[in-house]
Amino acid sequence: MKEKRKLSLALQIFIALVLAIIAGLLLGNHAEFAESYIKPFGTIFLNLLKFIVVPIVLFSIMSGIISMQDIRKVGSIGLKTVIYYLCTTAFAITIGLIGGNLFKGLFPVVATTNLTYEAAEATSFMDTLVNIFPSNFIQPMSEANMLQVIVMALLIGFAIILIGDEASMVIRGVNSLNAVFMKCMEMILKLSPIGVFCLLCPVVATNGAAIIGSLAMVLLAAYICYIVHAVVVYSTAVRTMGGMNPAAFFKGMLPAIMFAFSSASSVGTLPINLECTEKMGASREIASFVLPLGATINMDGTAIYQGVCAIFIAACYGINLTFPQMLTIVLTATLASIGTAGVPGAGMVMLAMVLTSVGLPVDGIALVAGVDRIFDMGRTVVNITGDASCTMIVSNLERKKDLKRAQKQNALRNK
Ligand code: ASP
Repeated sequence: MKEKRKLSLALQIFIALVLAIIAGLLLGNHAEFAESYIKPFGTIFLNLLKFIVVPIVLFSIMSGIISMQDIRKVGSIGLKTVIYYLCTTAFAITIGLIGGNLFKGLFPVVATTNLTYEAAEATSFMDTLVNIFPSNFIQPMSEANMLQVIVMALLIGFAIILIGDEASMVIRGVNSLNAVFMKCMEMILKLSPIGVFCLLCPVVATNGAAIIGSLAMVLLAAYICYIVHAVVVYSTAVRTMGGMNPAAFFKGMLPAIMFAFSSASSVGTLPINLECTEKMGASREIASFVLPLGATINMDGTAIYQGVCAIFIAACYGINLTFPQMLTIVLTATLASIGTAGVPGAGMVMLAMVLTSVGLPVDGIALVAGVDRIFDMGRTVVNITGDASCTMIVSNLERKKDLKRAQKQNALRNK
């Protein structure tokens, strides 16, 4: 029964997606109508998601840690997660650079005079590090600063484990609040087909013509790299370390993928991603730790986009990037993707950091800014799929470890 309901939600989202593209193309000449009267409903839906995301991250990470009952276990899962995230991001940016170079000859010659792009003030690496740690209890939640919320959840979660029995009331409180917010999330997710339609339709109406325009080649290069990364890296990882058939993985991920594509927000897709991974057999305690972390720091799609766009912008200015410059891009894009927030458009802001690191003109961002949303939809899909693949892998590795431990204990007992 439950199975049927969830399947139909995926189908509903798919239908909404198709309808949004058709309606968007039909409304091509009335883009203002779509922007003024359809988009606001999408914004309401996004607002509801933003509202629920802070408590979900806070309580799901805390209850995940509490259920593991052991700081060492949290540490081992955390380490595996961070290593996987860093490695896949390095792969992603390499694929982006290779793809960008292969397509370079086909990139259009776009006029680079009179370009202006106001880059946001870049923060240094040390500032970024300092900013991870909250200086106030309320602020991280009110500003939805996800990295700081994660630090809060880790700190409080660890304290609860260390206190043990004395914290039993808090444990019950955290677990039941987690259940309450999960229920809220389920209610909000029922609206996702409407949300998807209202978010995507204005994008198609506004960008319809631009897609076919001069930037089609760059978009194509980015999308091919997105697909190659997902098919090669995630499939291999899920099959070898996750013990899972890649086709089953992508099929299980479909609702989250469609949702990420229309909302362009990893953080907004977090609730659906939690549902999808759990349905595919990931343990809840691991999913509720690995996914929020990934939605905040793991952005493979964003890294690919930064690689492709750096090559494209360099080509437009007639600059040939050297090998050491490419290595610098790999490093800065990895850091930039960690610092990218899981919200629409964030990756483009961080592109400025990548360009400056190799002395490319930041104004070049203006070349791709017009169609950023289309890049963004694809990169968000890759971002959340990467998080989910990590969840399935860590779940599988932990399951195997537990099994081994149990077998060892059995053998000892039988001796
Ligand atoms: N929109 C992306 C995400 O939420 C971030 C980006 O702009 O690259 O994952």
